[in-house]
Amino acid sequence: MIGLMQTRQLSIAALIEHAARTHGATEVVSRQVDGSIHRSNYREIAARSRKAANALSRLGISTGDRVATLAWNTHRHLELYYAISGSGAVCHTINPRLFLEQVRYIVDHAEDKVLFFDLTFADLVEEIAANCPSVTGFVALCERADMPSGLKVERLFCYEDLLAAEDDRFEWPDLPEETAAALCYTSGTTGNPKGVLYTHRSTVLHAYASVMPDAFGISARDCVMPASSMYHANAWGLPYAATLAGAKLVLPCNQLDGPHLSELITGEGVTISCGVPTIWLGVLQYLASHGGALESLRTLVVSGSACPVSLITRYREDYGVTVVHFWGMTELSPLGTIARIPFELASEPEEALDLVRSRQGRPLFGVEIEIRGDDGTPLPHDGETFGDLMVRGWWVASGYFRQEASSLDDDGWFRTGDVATIDPGGVMRITDRSKDVIKSGGEWISSIDLENAAVGHPDVAEAAVIGVPHPKWDERPLLVVVLKEGARPHAGAIRDHLASHVAKWQLPDDTVFVDEIPHTATGKILKTRLREIYADHFLG
Ligand code: ADP
Repeated sequence: MIGLMQTRQLSIAALIEHAARTHGATEVVSRQVDGSIHRSNYREIAARSRKAANALSRLGISTGDRVATLAWNTHRHLELYYAISGSGAVCHTINPRLFLEQVRYIVDHAEDKVLFFDLTFADLVEEIAANCPSVTGFVALCERADMPSGLKVERLFCYEDLLAAEDDRFEWPDLPEETAAALCYTSGTTGNPKGVLYTHRSTVLHAYASVMPDAFGISARDCVMPASSMYHANAWGLPYAATLAGAKLVLPCNQLDGPHLSELITGEGVTISCGVPTIWLGVLQYLASHGGALESLRTLVVSGSACPVSLITRYREDYGVTVVHFWGMTELSPLGTIARIPFELASEPEEALDLVRSRQGRPLFGVEIEIRGDDGTPLPHDGETFGDLMVRGWWVASGYFRQEASSLDDDGWFRTGDVATIDPGGVMRITDRSKDVIKSGGEWISSIDLENAAVGHPDVAEAAVIGVPHPKWDERPLLVVVLKEGARPHAGAIRDHLASHVAKWQLPDDTVFVDEIPHTATGKILKTRLREIYADHFLG
């Protein structure tokens, strides 16, 4: 028997319309490309999103068309999130840190029809414009007065002009909730980037889940500042989550360094922020050398790569901030598991809890996880056995855009490419990317454990551990270190520090000091490159 409840479809436009009606005066503050601060609120953002939706139809965009953005975290990008998806088109956020060829590839692959860009990317747009036949219009996200002169781009429009010509009434279409809403390509360190195609349903369910107290914990009394990029997995869904909750939203543009982030936190009263560990290590270093506090900040959501326990402890002890560590992927919208303290541990000492916080945590309701052996058999949840991490759920990808094959096995599980353990309490711990695992004499060594221990040394700014071919052991770990400014290279001291964290046979055979470690377009350590550079290190 079918129940008798309404079957209204989940929709992204409903998020902004709810915020406009219910939290209309709540502020949306945005740093702009020129560094100035723009103040708005949900009522205005909704009105401008409707104008942008009208402008999209005037530019010939219809349901299912892909509309690209090359943009930072700003109010205009937020308006486009709602305008594009809400009107039934697909918001394709392009990662500007991809190589030029990759940007061109994904614009072509997605067949983007219109491309909106921040002025920072004017040169990039000029370079790709002639070779992107699908794009019928390029829109600069600025006022008429700031339009770049001499840009060799045909069919160039000014965003503010387009909006000024439109009515702020727009009838959002009633879309089936499985309608494609947004498209984000993974960084593709091997092979071409692959497109993850979110739906209205997946995005709204993800937003519901992420505001919950044991997820990001966002309410209408919060001020949320996403310092993860709106071009990468939708800034971890925070713009949608903040809108759903009616929280004040602060968008930091591309200014993700210590001075700018701490200024916004203090000036705007930010209570929840987020970002990859490197960004927040940068803020710590800045505060340590320049002084300052983070009075309003309560929660710092960290993800993208494993969060070192030292970072968690420093924020708690020095600034009274709780680091909330989660594991996710672009393919998971991106939230998968999150490390929150359960009731039975609540009275443990804080130092012990920091260790719990540094795990990848337990799945949210809506996500299931499993670990499997090489032959596909499920492995025990004993906290020690590690295997391929599999996931399924309401906001997990089932395949990639324009790839025929499903990405799921027969039981609907998606293989993440991560290697993990799960303990009897359901807590997951990532030991490695499967391609980064170090195989030494038949045993596996976790590069993540070694890296986390290494960045706990006071002289280490960043550390990478890779498996390097070895004549006797197959592979042995090599530690690559970037020192903090002014620190002296001292491999022995770092090794002694590591020895107190891992078994002796897991210690790196050597340490090299470098000025910089290469990164991927999403800010992860580019281990393929490091393995190339040091391929002969132990072969003499
Ligand atoms: P990319 O496009 O770089 O693949 P993703 O955000 O999709 O960007 O990367 C997801 C991967 O990042 C995961 O599969 C995992 O390897 C790593 N990752 C994300 N969060 C964590 C975490 N908390 N701990 C360890 N690894 C993480």
